[in-house]
Amino acid sequence: MSRPLRVAVIGAGPAGIYASDILMKSGQEVSIDLYERMPAPFGLIRYGVAPDHPRIKGIVNSLHRVLDRDELRLLGNIEIGKDVSIDELRQFYDAIIFSTGATQDRDLEIPGVDLDGSFGAADFVGFYDGNPNFKRTWDLSAQSVAVIGVGNVGLDVARILAKTADELHVTEIPDNVYSTLKSNAATEVHIFGRRGPAQAKFTPLELKELDHSPNIEVIVDPEDIDYDEASIEARREAKSVDLVCQTLEGYAMREPKGAPHKLFIHFFESPVEILGEDGRVVGLKTERMELDGNGGVRGTGNFTEWSVQSVYRAVGYKSDEMPEVPFDAAKNVIRNDGGHVINHDGSIVPGLYATGWVKRGPVGLIGNTKSDAKETTDMLLADYAAGTLTAPSSPAPEAVTEFLDSRGIAFTTWNGWYQLDAAEKALGEVEGRERKKIVEWDEMVKHSRGDLSAD
Ligand SMILES: Cc1cc2nc3c(=O)[nH]c(=O)nc-3n(C[C@H](O)[C@H](O)[C@H](O)COP(=O)(O)OP(=O)(O)OC[C@H]3O[C@@H](n4cnc5c(N)ncnc54)[C@H](O)[C@@H]3O)c2cc1C
Repeated sequence: MSRPLRVAVIGAGPAGIYASDILMKSGQEVSIDLYERMPAPFGLIRYGVAPDHPRIKGIVNSLHRVLDRDELRLLGNIEIGKDVSIDELRQFYDAIIFSTGATQDRDLEIPGVDLDGSFGAADFVGFYDGNPNFKRTWDLSAQSVAVIGVGNVGLDVARILAKTADELHVTEIPDNVYSTLKSNAATEVHIFGRRGPAQAKFTPLELKELDHSPNIEVIVDPEDIDYDEASIEARREAKSVDLVCQTLEGYAMREPKGAPHKLFIHFFESPVEILGEDGRVVGLKTERMELDGNGGVRGTGNFTEWSVQSVYRAVGYKSDEMPEVPFDAAKNVIRNDGGHVINHDGSIVPGLYATGWVKRGPVGLIGNTKSDAKETTDMLLADYAAGTLTAPSSPAPEAVTEFLDSRGIAFTTWNGWYQLDAAEKALGEVEGRERKKIVEWDEMVKHSRGDLSAD
């Protein structure tokens, strides 16, 4: 008897949801289980995108129509690789797609990274975005702060530190984040990049938006606006690079507006050491760089010590390794060839695929995960059509839930998300806000499973 193609998608962030969407629209009859480690779906849209970006957070609403479909079942609060192994999953599915994203900070190897007051950006993001896997308190006593890295995550961290707690209170931030931000002493935030304006990884909109806060004065030193031939070429080739440069030039040239919190963006300053005293950050040492004509930079041998009491390292995210799945430790992604998971010798692991940040590394916006998912799902469908996938021994959807129940796993569902969503909106409404996030893991599970009566 014919049955739908059974697929497990691991990770309910944008990549996993888009991959599911494309499969459901492919014309192939499919039945998909979307596994998620957290009790709630949406990955970094919920736990990465900054709370003062409601338009981006709102992408969740457009993803609802994907998860509303009958061919897709969300199974949350299950960590694949820990609660359930890949080998166990294989008995239920023709194919497994990993879309497990990235959660941790990439290492920055300079002296002083272990000092008190030296923070990974991902940890701070986890804190302010209410992720229960991250610590729930934060030391915001620094008056001057350095942020290393000229990408959007660096901008997010710098903006959250430079805004006032009251500016952020209108967002979905939980109470403990608001009260901690109230204690924020920062009046100066310094972003550092080792290369020039044309090499910055900011996107134009996010850079421009910094200036919208009445509390933030964005300052760029005109000396830092410098381009070589390769930089000029980069501006010509990409409109977004040119727009970023134009915005930075605007910041460098204009009169100050008199806002109380200063946000400096420094270029050509390469962090070489985080300085400490008695185990605590007291400064950041940078080396002045200059363009080498090819879009790269070289050191000048001139060093500056900046007096800061905290340093945030926003130098990129990295993915977690999944047991039983080949991992490329140099690139920090699942070993893959355009989407097929491959062994160390380059041979394809049948039935396993990757998409999103865990496939190509932590770069790109939410929208980019869509085209990426298409490449992966095309491969999967071609393999299925070619008959190279091994049929599962228990393809019936009920077999999965029976298995999870037998394990005692309190999984959450898509209906459960609607309950959690309603609870968060209700909490927000009493304060005139759209939503207030529920942080605690057990609370999320209780709302999602509708068993608050157990209290
Ligand atoms: C701080 C920050 C801010 C950002 N801001 C923006 C922005 O404003 N606009 C924008 O367009 N993009 C933004 N991005 C980029 C965007 O978040 C990514 O492009 C996108 O989330 C990548 O999608 P993904 O599905 O690959 O990974 P993720 O979003 O990380 O989703 C992966 C999912 O897999 C789950 N998972 C992991 N391991 C397991 C496991 N073992 N079992 C089950 N589930 C698992 C995770 O819990 C997570 O839900 C931001 C990124 C960061 C880090």
